[in-house]
Amino acid sequence: MFPGGEDVHFAESIRTASSVVVGAHVDPDGDAVGSTLGLVLALRSIGIDASPVLPSSDAVPQTYSFLPGSELYRHVADLTAPDLFIALDTPGFARLGDAEPLARDARKLIVIDHHPDNARYGTLSIVDASASSVGAMVWGLLGTLGVEPDARIATCLYTALVTDTGRFSYSNTSPEALRTAASMLEAGVDVQQVFTDVYESRSVGALALIGRTLERITCVQDGAIAYSWVTDDDFAETGALKAESENLIDEVRALRGARIVFLMKLNAGAVRVSLRAKGGADVGSVARAFGGGGHSAAAGFTFDGEVDALLNVLLPALTEVLA
Ligand code: 5GP
Ligand code: MN
Repeated sequence: MFPGGEDVHFAESIRTASSVVVGAHVDPDGDAVGSTLGLVLALRSIGIDASPVLPSSDAVPQTYSFLPGSELYRHVADLTAPDLFIALDTPGFARLGDAEPLARDARKLIVIDHHPDNARYGTLSIVDASASSVGAMVWGLLGTLGVEPDARIATCLYTALVTDTGRFSYSNTSPEALRTAASMLEAGVDVQQVFTDVYESRSVGALALIGRTLERITCVQDGAIAYSWVTDDDFAETGALKAESENLIDEVRALRGARIVFLMKLNAGAVRVSLRAKGGADVGSVARAFGGGGHSAAAGFTFDGEVDALLNVLLPALTEVLA
């Protein structure tokens, strides 16, 4: 898995670090939180006092607050630049939000990521675009670190894996991903409990927001492209939390025949866009053209402007990558 010996360099850097902070991208998803906490718990199990940091946020997303170690998260303001910063699931400095200075000013920066557009901005950058999730990459590093994974570590890293593969359904669900999941289960993951915590613990408001998303589904290009949107008012009126909207896009992708789907989150003057491709289309290239990034099948960007102006340029760009 690490043909260049990156795992050995990683382990050496860890062993010689006097302080370690681990962080991931802003608006953290299951892979960001799960891989961060899994690595922090793993490092602590071998006597390294690592701390997870929350970038540009006050609180752990509620969906993932059940994870072991979530109480360890520290705010950026409470930390100083560490000896070693480990950036997970984060393709470039800017995606670290307000944790960026901690990473820039650290004596050493290790990047572990599976985004194909990763800028390799670390002193050591371990990037594997074929990896299902960063959680699985961290799992693969435990042996070299001398960590014997317990159920807590496995639960964090399994949550990263199960969420980033869309519950073992997206194209990144490789035999390797399933073998990794099997060994995580052997380490004690309660699969049913993780499923309930991640997917069956929605608030009434979050379900109402799904209703609004479904009502607004709009099809273009004979249904090959489908999209929907939610506004800040929708969040206020339903009571749904922003952190509960991570999987809203999945409701749109359920549509038969849709090959590209997107969800727009509208707030004053800006539109946050999540793009997904169900077939082979590369939506990552479209996201990059709009200043964002991601994988070919899952990407995102933020557009500064009104929704009509966005659709005028986004729909032609997506139609082009459909062909
Ligand atoms: P989501 O739609 O769930 O927010 O993001 C989907 C994927 O695209 C994730 O891998 C995420 O890291 C990436 N992504 C989303 N927004 C951006 C962005 O603004 N910039 C970059 N570089 N990547 C993004
Ligand atoms: Mn990821």
